[in-house]
Amino acid sequence: MSLTNKSLAELSQLFRAGEVSSREITEAFITEIEAKDGDLNAFVTTTFDLAREQADSSDSRRDQGALLSPIDGMPITLKDIVCTTEVRTTASSNILRDFVSPYDATIWTKLKEAGAVLLGKVNTDEFTMGASTETSAFGVTRNPHDTERVAGGSSGGSASSVGANMCAASIGTDTGGSIRQPAHFCGCTGLKVSYGRVSRWGTIPMASSLDTVGPLAKTPEDCAMMLQVLAGHDPKDSTTPEKPVPDYLKTLNDPLKGMKIGVPKEYFIDGLDPEVAAVTNSAKEILRSLGAEVIDVSLPHSKYAVSVYYIVGPSEISANMARFDGLRFGTSEGEKDLQSIYEESREAGLGDEVKRRILIGTYALSAGYYDAYYRKAQKVRTLICDDFTKAFEHVDVLLAPVSPTPAFKVGGHGGDPLKMYLEDILTIPANLAGLPGLAVPMGTSKDGLPIGVQLISPGYTEERLLQVGHQMFNAVR
Ligand code: GLN
Repeated sequence: MSLTNKSLAELSQLFRAGEVSSREITEAFITEIEAKDGDLNAFVTTTFDLAREQADSSDSRRDQGALLSPIDGMPITLKDIVCTTEVRTTASSNILRDFVSPYDATIWTKLKEAGAVLLGKVNTDEFTMGASTETSAFGVTRNPHDTERVAGGSSGGSASSVGANMCAASIGTDTGGSIRQPAHFCGCTGLKVSYGRVSRWGTIPMASSLDTVGPLAKTPEDCAMMLQVLAGHDPKDSTTPEKPVPDYLKTLNDPLKGMKIGVPKEYFIDGLDPEVAAVTNSAKEILRSLGAEVIDVSLPHSKYAVSVYYIVGPSEISANMARFDGLRFGTSEGEKDLQSIYEESREAGLGDEVKRRILIGTYALSAGYYDAYYRKAQKVRTLICDDFTKAFEHVDVLLAPVSPTPAFKVGGHGGDPLKMYLEDILTIPANLAGLPGLAVPMGTSKDGLPIGVQLISPGYTEERLLQVGHQMFNAVR
């Protein structure tokens, strides 16, 4: 029986039924990692000893009838910006190459309390800035469907580890598309949650008004299982409201009859790959056949989303990155004086993309430019939010492509940052508006590359996204 190609839900069922142990599942994934990760480079740090220990504990809990949750005993990976006391957390940056956090991220605490098994920490663009994992100080992560292509980013290690059957599920982060785009590239399901639904305490921040933490897994149902563990208020993260957490599995099969699905016409941009458009259109038909009504809607300001994001994002980045100065955080270089420590630590420790964003953000926030850039961007952000509010007066869920093309070749954007920024043209609006979005694998290109589609719904309605995604996904299986 091959275990590693099974979904989290299937593995959990086999484990709970006593047909397989967590140790056996864990060893099966370790074998896959040893066979494949030399080519894929999804892992920054493996934690096999810890995984075996955690798996054995799960097995004894099962024997005593004391399982902690449906994901007890299930092997996962964590994007390497989730702080863990057990092993280093690098943010895929040289400046944190040897950093071991003195505390655990809230979500890692929750996952441990649910009995999850950690196989390792996985690669990301440096400090999650990028869309291809090419800015990582630990080398690019490759796509399991074609190793000449990128896995996407910034959660490329998460998507590659799920897509290559090297774990049952993973944790990523999405600030502008970093869960959804890699999920689309690697043929997995990725959930960007509503802003504040999942605690970010202990995950290294990029842009604090946009950052979200969420699951990547094989199926929408698997994402629902993960979200059940992750979601909820955290007294340590004041952006997590005390809203009740629904039972995400209970409503997965509720009929879609009468549900209204809006298709934003602005998302069918010039340059959208015809195969990506075709898969999105086929998803419309599938939703119709499931009883939903599909109608066209307009989000007129979405064309400004990338411009707004690349002012607001870097502004917040420039503030968040100030702590990595070789003194408060980060490897210290230079000895002469404060100025030289700052300069040499940051010069040696940070890559070009991170430096570029610190510079852009510092500029946009500086006296004289603040009104022209930052304040104006915030005003346009409000218009983008208002577009969604108006659309959701008429529809329950939006359906759109995830990103303009399937996975591109390593080096395919030729080091051009502007080309890379356009990767997220269809994912950024949901981040600016704080809305949940789900990337669901729905097709394959003629070259055999996965193609996903994106669902977006009003804030704090993840259960609706997962319900639609689950049924749409099952219709093509
Ligand atoms: N690709 C986008 C960027 O480079 C999004 C990154 C993210 O979501 N972390 O900023």
